[in-house]
Amino acid sequence: MSLDFGPATALSCRECGARYDLGPSFACLECFGPLEAAYSFGDVTRADIESGPANIWRYRSLLPVPADVAAKPNMNPGWTKLVQAGNLGKALGIRSLYVKDDSGNPTHSFKDRVVAIAVEAARNFGFHTLSCSSTGNLAGAVTAAAARAGLDACVFIPADLEQAKIAMARVFGGRLIGIDGTYDEVNRFCSELIGDPLGDKWGFVNVNLRPYYAEGSKTLAYEIAEQLGWRLPEQIVIPIASGSQLTKIDKGFKELIALGLVEDRPYKVFGAQAQGCSPVSTAFKAGHEVVQPVKPDTIAKSLAIGNPADGPYVLDIARRTGGAVEDVTDAEIVAAIKLLASTEGIFAETAGGVTVGVLKKLVETGRLDPEAETVVLNTGDGLKTLDAVSGDAAPTAVIRPSLDAFRAAV
Ligand SMILES: *Cc1c(COP(=O)(O)O)cnc(C)c1O
Ligand SMILES: [Zn+2]
Repeated sequence: MSLDFGPATALSCRECGARYDLGPSFACLECFGPLEAAYSFGDVTRADIESGPANIWRYRSLLPVPADVAAKPNMNPGWTKLVQAGNLGKALGIRSLYVKDDSGNPTHSFKDRVVAIAVEAARNFGFHTLSCSSTGNLAGAVTAAAARAGLDACVFIPADLEQAKIAMARVFGGRLIGIDGTYDEVNRFCSELIGDPLGDKWGFVNVNLRPYYAEGSKTLAYEIAEQLGWRLPEQIVIPIASGSQLTKIDKGFKELIALGLVEDRPYKVFGAQAQGCSPVSTAFKAGHEVVQPVKPDTIAKSLAIGNPADGPYVLDIARRTGGAVEDVTDAEIVAAIKLLASTEGIFAETAGGVTVGVLKKLVETGRLDPEAETVVLNTGDGLKTLDAVSGDAAPTAVIRPSLDAFRAAV
């Protein structure tokens, strides 16, 4: 069987540039650096893209997938709304603000984007089982995608995740294994499994398929630029778990510039973490280039990676673009979820509370320009993290169905 990865021609090491054949590998044999997809792009025009489907496959000529990818059974994620957030902008004093609302994906988080690309890699390599280590959203995205693609699924999570995320991952079938430990321990276990006969023919979307998986995040950059009318935003606030999404959004913007699809103008990238798991923010503030691992303790479980693989690259990007990395407390996360909901009618999961909370903090401390066009990401659905607003999980009043009782209550 010959491999078909469309415009992707090789894997290359982010650290030393060594090149490898496209395969299910993720670390450089020379220096152990991470491998990423390298391309030879053809002529890509705005018109080609605009005539494509209303999902991530409109960008297939920029992704490591075969040209006929849209014809195969898959989840067709992407082309989520870019919401003009005038009310939230007014509340925060930002003139031009948009929310890129990725809760609108098939399994209600941004993870459907990355998994869709990983499924194509799994098919290319003849894997029969789709797997991952997950902080919650990835587990559901993988089991759903496997169901639709006709693959087996076996996914691994820290055992103490939100109920909604556990139920969501199980409803699609496959096996969901809870591990008594942190996400970082789950991830290490998966690396071990890859080397064992037990994990043979398994595609771990964020481990041995990571170079393909990670490219899915570029579609967020492409969509934002296209939805702004083929223009880069001046400022963008992105959540950080492993840091992959942030680094790939930056890669996506740079590709659009290089291909002449948008004008080359400066943009600032801001990273957002929860204070209970803020190793990248801590390193940014201290001026360090290395990220010290932490043990996470936050309600933003989807972002609770204590040893983020792409942390150093995030630091580079934030510094190079003139952005920053900031963090907010659990109380600020909850307040930000409510602020976004009550101003724009968008119910974000805790990760969206992190980005909106950080956005607020950055404006208040003068590091974000309130006059510049700004995009903030909401990467997941509030229904998955109801506990964060459990204080509101009751009516404002319970009355008998009579006008007198209502009058008395209001
Ligand atoms: C996974 C995830 C992210 C980002 O993860 P990275 O590892 O940094 O790419 C952001 N938001 C939500 C809700 C997620 O589930
Ligand atoms: Zn290398």
